[in-house]
Amino acid sequence: MILKIIDLRSDTVTLPSAEMRQAMFDAELGDDVFGEDPTVNKLEREAAAMIGKEAAIFVASGTMGNLIATLVHCRRGEQILLAEGSHIFHWEQGGASALGGIAMKALPVDNQAQMKIGDIEAAINGDDVHLSRTRLICLENTYNGQPLSPLYLAAVQTLARQHGLKMHLDGARIFNAAIASDLSVKEIARHFDSVQFCCSKGLAAPVGSLLCGDGEFIAEARRVRKMLGGGMRQAGVLAAACLLSLEVMVERLAEDHKNAQLLAEGLAKLEGITVLKAETRTNMVFFKAQNADMPQTELQKLLKEQGLLVSNVPKTGLRAVTHYGIEGADITEAISRVQNVVAKIMLAAN
Ligand SMILES: *Cc1c(COP(=O)(O)O)cnc(C)c1O
Repeated sequence: MILKIIDLRSDTVTLPSAEMRQAMFDAELGDDVFGEDPTVNKLEREAAAMIGKEAAIFVASGTMGNLIATLVHCRRGEQILLAEGSHIFHWEQGGASALGGIAMKALPVDNQAQMKIGDIEAAINGDDVHLSRTRLICLENTYNGQPLSPLYLAAVQTLARQHGLKMHLDGARIFNAAIASDLSVKEIARHFDSVQFCCSKGLAAPVGSLLCGDGEFIAEARRVRKMLGGGMRQAGVLAAACLLSLEVMVERLAEDHKNAQLLAEGLAKLEGITVLKAETRTNMVFFKAQNADMPQTELQKLLKEQGLLVSNVPKTGLRAVTHYGIEGADITEAISRVQNVVAKIMLAAN
């Protein structure tokens, strides 16, 4: 029997739906650098309306959207405050620093994915001739699968206003956050000057992110996107899939959250496995072996041999992400594969 691979490494592994492929085939196209691709223009209008900002720009990736945002908000030598484990700080090669000469100060987060307000305030540099000027606060929502509370967003925004700072949201999974917190995405986005979100994760488009903000910000973002080589021509073939991300795929994210909850509950019942607690779960489950001598990489490898793919987040745990294409039956099967592996480990230990 051929083992069906269950791939829970990330929601980036989602394949476009049949409807998306057809829409890509049928898309009306033009040269988007001239502003003449009707499908891209429609996507940008719809995204801006959904997020509740004046304008939006279609970009190749979340990394590019975040980079453009930091380059528009900050000049060389200015500073961003952000979380230690955040994507912008940790997973984007320090692009804001490498390409924009921007300093980044990373702060720790607590178990609710929050940097302490006092820590942020203490890290803000004013107009001292020795210091880089703090210009921007970046938050990430969801952060490790956790949505940030609206009260927290409001508190950070108040602080930012007091100090004349801008706010950017890396909202790669903002729709997961909105659904889990029972808020509209607008209610999350309204705290920020700019918001980046990905269509290429749980929303199942093959490529693409949107960066949203006011008209002036997006006009400047268009210049920076071109400078970075991100001016795409008949990009409507991609935008067509992203339109379906917004129109069709948002609603089904709740299914991913339900599956993640089932997975967490199933794994928690297994002897030998610890599931990391999450106050509110979206589409991610973190777990590890109870036996502290079992390295995460080893457990990951044993699971892979069983046809179960998960990713390894050092010092945190193994990460399983539910997504479009993963059904309830796959969750049951995934739990049983983990059970097989822990049973083998325990046998070997005795
Ligand atoms: C995936 C991700 C990004 C970057 O998106 P890419 O399209 O992979 O460049 C940014 N931030 C967060 C939180 C992400 O999960």
